[in-house]
Amino acid sequence: MNLNLKAINQCVRCGTCRTFCPVFLESGWESANTRGRIMILKGLTCGLQPDRQVLDSINTCTTCGICTENCPAGVNPPEMIESARRQLVSLGKMTGEQADLSRNIFESGNTFGESSDRLSWFTDRSLLAKKADYVYFVGCMNSYRYTKTAANTFALLSRFGATMLPAEQCCGSPLLRTGFDASRFVDENCRQIAEMGASTVITGCAGCYTTLKKSYPPDFRVLSVPEFLAEHISELEIKPLDLTITYHDPCHLGRHNQIYEQPRQVIETICRLEEMKTNRKDARCCGGGGGVRAGYKDLSLQMAKKRLEDVPEGVDYIVTSCPLCIRNLRDAGAGEKVIDLVDLVAMAVRQK
Ligand code: SF4
Ligand code: SF4
Repeated sequence: MNLNLKAINQCVRCGTCRTFCPVFLESGWESANTRGRIMILKGLTCGLQPDRQVLDSINTCTTCGICTENCPAGVNPPEMIESARRQLVSLGKMTGEQADLSRNIFESGNTFGESSDRLSWFTDRSLLAKKADYVYFVGCMNSYRYTKTAANTFALLSRFGATMLPAEQCCGSPLLRTGFDASRFVDENCRQIAEMGASTVITGCAGCYTTLKKSYPPDFRVLSVPEFLAEHISELEIKPLDLTITYHDPCHLGRHNQIYEQPRQVIETICRLEEMKTNRKDARCCGGGGGVRAGYKDLSLQMAKKRLEDVPEGVDYIVTSCPLCIRNLRDAGAGEKVIDLVDLVAMAVRQK
């Protein structure tokens, strides 16, 4: 396989990443650690055959980026791993779960393989403007699984004139993270955004955010909901709440895009914030990203359980701004205690 040998050899095998990689900390296998994965990538350049064990090593990376943050040699492992996944997939080497996930998306335009309308939670489509400066990009998770959060987000954003795409498609993130081509979805979403005449696309999903920002043409500004809310919180009629909240940094908002302060600013306008044991660039991954939840559910939930150990005692809610994190942390035992930042804001906005 033709992988970037220069990048692979940049790893000096110091093992610093063993202290951080959330997958290694659960599994204990070097092949599930950053360094081991890089050694396997090197093996692939020298003729190592991509059997199931190799695929498991490459595909259990959540792309959390905490190794990049802490690597003394300046290696960027998630980038190398995503590149290897692309090459493996192009050679037809993938797990059954990867194949199922991609088939769902290619056939239905969403990660769940749902055939129902993405906007079924939105009762009156006639209220949707056909042209607008702001577009709310809902994402698959909130369209199909967390529709109350989608409705709360749209209720807030529509105060500022936002509309939604008439036929939004999956942003392509799960495809790109797991090695597939997403250009069909990128092109279709871009076409609709251009037709709207929108200058800004706002999303409440960390995975959609990183994809819209880094894998779409730079034809529009991309904002995360926390960034938008932080900019506009003074224009909302906020009623402070007697709550103590902790905040989980989604990897694709935090480490991948340095959005640390905006969600905290919003929370602190509303209530008390108590930090998790690891936070900001050091925040432990929830275990849900990079296709790991889809392919290795038990391992993914083990990581989420470990993340819950970082929650300070006595908080009323664990707030985050990524539906993938919400699902994993809820399923790992935190249940309805995990809420989206938007749902907190909705509680605090005085109803007119
Ligand atoms: S910390 Fe960086 S250089 Fe050290 S083993 Fe891990 S990836 Fe390689
Ligand atoms: S991105 Fe996260 S899961 Fe992947 S190798 Fe680095 S630390 Fe491990």
